[in-house]
Amino acid sequence: MTKYARYEAHGETAYGVVEGDTVRQLTGPPYEVHEVTDHIHALSDVKLLSPVVPSKVVAIGLNYKSHLGDRATPKVPEPFFKTPSSVIGPGESVVIPRDAIAEGVKVQPEAELSLVIGKRCKGATKANALSYVLGYTCGNDISARDWQGNDLQWWRAKSSDTFTPLGPFIVTDLDPGNLHLIGRINGKVVQDQVTSDLLYDVPTIIEFVSRVMTLEPGDVIMTGTPGAPGDIHEGDVMEIEVEGIGVLRNPVTTE
Ligand code: MG
Repeated sequence: MTKYARYEAHGETAYGVVEGDTVRQLTGPPYEVHEVTDHIHALSDVKLLSPVVPSKVVAIGLNYKSHLGDRATPKVPEPFFKTPSSVIGPGESVVIPRDAIAEGVKVQPEAELSLVIGKRCKGATKANALSYVLGYTCGNDISARDWQGNDLQWWRAKSSDTFTPLGPFIVTDLDPGNLHLIGRINGKVVQDQVTSDLLYDVPTIIEFVSRVMTLEPGDVIMTGTPGAPGDIHEGDVMEIEVEGIGVLRNPVTTE
């Protein structure tokens, strides 16, 4: 099991391997050819960033029974996109756009097990899908509900700037089918599920998406959210926790 981070130290951005409460610098992203250096920082001395810079973020909708409400179970996985420009790291503020404030749009967090692709992937099968995965991280699929319901596309509902917090680490060799997933707002648990409840599991999602679309190293797939998370407002603090990975914490502010 390896834990990767991306961080800023002394004004420079680097990737590293987390060892206890320190991080050891790599010469490049963990999904590219790299060397392990002897350059070590205390984790408390660096600013953690999104652990990955994806070329695309694929997110799966309606993938837990507890989130469906009165909607039917999808017959196949239901992917949509979040833009790379909406990705932020641990500790960064989610900024509710001024138009959402003006229109009284409801904004909600979504706790999601998220995976990072480790090698170029096209035409994966369920049997070999996990061999394309570098590891797993916590994702928060911030959603502006009224825009999601009323716009033709989910472009701003799901991809307004700051709407895709990821982190704090990428952890390898987890069983994605059996992880505890928790969402909190201001310390109160609002989502609590295990990933064995996913309607479409990680291998099925990778097979389905990669039938038609090449997944590149560093790309992220967010696997869907359970239950009914509450609304967020300026001053709130959201936490997404996935067993074995850690806690992704982001405050909420307004534009
Ligand atoms: Mg979602």
